[in-house]
Amino acid sequence: MNESCIFCSIAKKEIPSHLIYEDEHALAFLDIHPRAPGHVLVIPKAHAETVMDLSDEAVGMFFSAVKNVDRLLVSKLKPDGVTIGINQGAASGQEVAHVHVHLMPRFKDDGGGSIQSVVNNASQESIEEIKKRIVGS
Ligand code: AMP
Ligand code: ZN
Repeated sequence: MNESCIFCSIAKKEIPSHLIYEDEHALAFLDIHPRAPGHVLVIPKAHAETVMDLSDEAVGMFFSAVKNVDRLLVSKLKPDGVTIGINQGAASGQEVAHVHVHLMPRFKDDGGGSIQSVVNNASQESIEEIKKRIVGS
């Protein structure tokens, strides 16, 4: 646990949240500034800044919780779709340094865009060059 982390404080129930789901390793609560009805954050109970900081076992349990919350939102709120995403790093918009998955129920004609609409920074390099930089060939 990280003493100065607001999501660790929520996990420890030291500060209140609108909790909608809890299991042994994760919990989910309503975002305090919802961008959609039922905008939820899922967090692992143990502090980790990014998914890369979670063990393989922990990441599996975390995404099982994401799946359970997705199912809960779909069954109860009956959206037409759900946008699921993680902001990783300040450049992507991560404000709370405790990994969290956003689930935003989507409704036909809600005016929102797709995940791809968060950035439009066309690469100067070709796709082949980018691939070479990632995998070396
Ligand atoms: P991100 O930009 O991905 O780090 O998202 C952080 C999210 O946490 C934002 O959508 C905030 O509205 C939300 N948030 C911050 N503090 C709280 C809180 N105490 N309870 C619920 N949501 C919060
Ligand atoms: Zn934390």
